[in-house]
Amino acid sequence: MSNKKLIDRKFSIQTELLHNSHKFDPVTGAVSVPIQLASTFHQTSFDEFGKYDYSRSGNPTREALESVIAQLEGGSRGFAFSSGMAAISTAFLLLSQGDHVLVTEDVYGGTYRMVTTVLNRFGIEHTFVDMTDLDAVARNIKENTKVIYVETPSNPLLKITDLKEIVKLAKANRCLTFVDNTFMTPALQRPLDFGVDIVLHSATKFLAGHSDVLAGLAVVKKKELADRLYALQNAFGAVLGAHDSWLVMRGLKTLHVRLTQSSHSALKIAEFLAQHSKVEHVYYPGLKFHEGHLIHESQSEGAGAVLSFALKDEEAVRTFVQHAEIPVFAVSLGAVESILSYPAKMSHAAMPKEEREKRGITDGLLRLSVGLENPDDLIRDLDHALKYV
Ligand SMILES: *Cc1c(COP(=O)(O)O)cnc(C)c1O
Repeated sequence: MSNKKLIDRKFSIQTELLHNSHKFDPVTGAVSVPIQLASTFHQTSFDEFGKYDYSRSGNPTREALESVIAQLEGGSRGFAFSSGMAAISTAFLLLSQGDHVLVTEDVYGGTYRMVTTVLNRFGIEHTFVDMTDLDAVARNIKENTKVIYVETPSNPLLKITDLKEIVKLAKANRCLTFVDNTFMTPALQRPLDFGVDIVLHSATKFLAGHSDVLAGLAVVKKKELADRLYALQNAFGAVLGAHDSWLVMRGLKTLHVRLTQSSHSALKIAEFLAQHSKVEHVYYPGLKFHEGHLIHESQSEGAGAVLSFALKDEEAVRTFVQHAEIPVFAVSLGAVESILSYPAKMSHAAMPKEEREKRGITDGLLRLSVGLENPDDLIRDLDHALKYV
């Protein structure tokens, strides 16, 4: 069994996904959370308003999702936003003019855009650093550093950052740690257990899981931080709608079974690709030769469903993509269907070629988010496409 003990958890995550505080509606017994579309709520007392007054400030359906994600992540409070970027951007609003943020070098493209083109205009400085190099992290912490922003595994090279060590550095320097946990989900990795302050999600991906809703989540443990984040969620107003909150909750019920199946297939596919003569390199934390494999094993309960692999060049990638029949060729990940992405022209298109190549994001690199198809069908399909390369 894993040594990453579930803290204060009555059931395993697998069970808690179904049997949580929103197992049934306390009023009707309904086993699905009711969708409350009302934007405003009648107040019966002139002097004392009820729990809900206006849906931006509080909505029962959104609140159900917020409390479920808080339980799953081991936090005290969750917040649901209209997209992953809305969650991330709202969390950044905790910063003030003159503050500095240390950001993982291969951060998600949208977060890169937020940090470099928006936060900079508000006088918030940033430094990008390779977070697998803890000395580099320590060297780059400044007097005014307030946040260390981490993604592990990172995108698209699945680089592993040691969460415990980052938290140690952050605490010693009185800064907060934010972790984007989109690739892992609480089913595989719970950063709050390691002392991380804010966990962020694009719930668009694995949590909702069906490529049919955009959503973002944030979870915190400390009450003071929860109060500040709630104030920002209400002030900025990028909240998740009731329907979309319900869709995320429906997706969550099958999170464990989806991720288990997809991770199992991902390992099988990674092993197949690793021995293929046309594949130059495979990046997947579940492979023993993957850098950081042991660190990842020590802080998570699985390698997840995303892997990347390098072919010779752009021409090889073009031919491969034309002949791969099963995966959709698209931006995004974490869905029931397998998704093949081309980072050089999709997530990292904005980055100059030299910068990209320096980071290992070559013109031959492809990312595969493994879905729920039969893994042997997927392997046959990839094998077939590789014959043309
Ligand atoms: C997709 C993604 C985001 C952004 O989420 P949206 O829901 O698209 O706004 C942030 N971080 C990671 C790791 C992602 O994959």
